[in-house]
Amino acid sequence: MPTAEIIAIGTELLLGETADTNTRFIARTLRGLGVDLFRTSTIGDNAGRIAQAIREALARAEIVITTGGLGPTVDDPTRQAVAQAVGVELEFRPELWEQITARVARYGRTPTENQKRQAYIPKGAISIENPVGTAPAFIVNVSPLLAKHPRRGQGEGPGVRASVVISLPGVPREMETLLTQAVIPYLQKHYNLHDVIKIRTLHTGGVGEAWIDEQIGDLESLTNPTVGLSAHSGIIDIRIAAKAGSEAEADRMLNAIEADVHERLGTVIYGADNATLEAVTLKAVAARGWSLACLESGLDGALIERLVRLGSPAFVGGIRHKVQPEAMEDALEEAFGEARRENRSLAALGITLSVDEERQAVTILILTPQEKEERHLTYGGHPRNAPRWATNIGLDCLRRCVQGISG
Ligand code: AMP
Ligand code: MG
Repeated sequence: MPTAEIIAIGTELLLGETADTNTRFIARTLRGLGVDLFRTSTIGDNAGRIAQAIREALARAEIVITTGGLGPTVDDPTRQAVAQAVGVELEFRPELWEQITARVARYGRTPTENQKRQAYIPKGAISIENPVGTAPAFIVNVSPLLAKHPRRGQGEGPGVRASVVISLPGVPREMETLLTQAVIPYLQKHYNLHDVIKIRTLHTGGVGEAWIDEQIGDLESLTNPTVGLSAHSGIIDIRIAAKAGSEAEADRMLNAIEADVHERLGTVIYGADNATLEAVTLKAVAARGWSLACLESGLDGALIERLVRLGSPAFVGGIRHKVQPEAMEDALEEAFGEARRENRSLAALGITLSVDEERQAVTILILTPQEKEERHLTYGGHPRNAPRWATNIGLDCLRRCVQGISG
């Protein structure tokens, strides 16, 4: 399996002004291809430092992907840096200049002289046309360099695979398009990549990591698929990753493990992959023919925000109001009592988080058209995560209550 590194280029990334979403996207793409990603780094717009980072990466990995620094201005240093790193000159490519001119003409303009910079790429590089922007991307084959500097432990000779530097634009939409349309097919062909890695994530609520570990610990030591846990403020995710020769085969493997996990954990699992707890819960409320109102205290709007974002008519509204734990029932009555008497299918969820020196106390009160449920809990984690934790626990209590799950 080939190894890769990603270098994100841009001073704005180092200044914390732009979040580096490109690295994440490329990392996920490589994972899907079965390429091992060993390291990622971020470098500012400085040709010397970028060239050095590329050389170092080439000494460790076969595939080096850069993103950013391909714009038309002087502070877009990637073309120069790659040329420097692999020891070649930049060369003018008339076909790239034609593409840039044609693209700019579509907006009724002529290209500026500095846009000509974008038609220069390292000598011998494979150019990648950019259908969604003006910055062309390129792939540089660096096997000659490799022969001079064989990677440690691999020696020289025919067993050593060629290395490449692949430079993509920084604008996320352009990067994603070129990666998908040009880079993936290139890597599949040149590195004979036939394996796919597929991931399925099952989300659970209302139980701890240790309990899940007890139920499925044996699965966590499998090698393919692999099964791993990660905790997110009251939600435990079970990540299943399968590597196979085809998507269908990977899906088959994932389905088998998922069925096994479902059998063992049952209704603790509320959804998979992109399913969110608030969406699943509100859907369960709507499935009963009910609607939901909520009252939150001490949560910084976390509960209402998540429900509002769903844009579902099943959520009729929420109130933020300071409420002491013992006063929640009165507060719900005051806020929604009349509405609930008028509309018999209205359910209410109240969550309050109250913090003093000793503890972070959470009270959850649920009133459905059929029952009342009250919970008092203590949160032991970082105060920053307490609102999210309380919201997750409250939503999961409501889900179970509405779905008729005991416990
Ligand atoms: P560049 O190709 O360096 O001119 O980047 C163009 C724009 O793309 C920048 O102004 C950023 O807004 C954005 N960008 C660059 N690098 C990244 C990155 N790693 N992740 C997300 N956005 C980026
Ligand atoms: Mg830039």
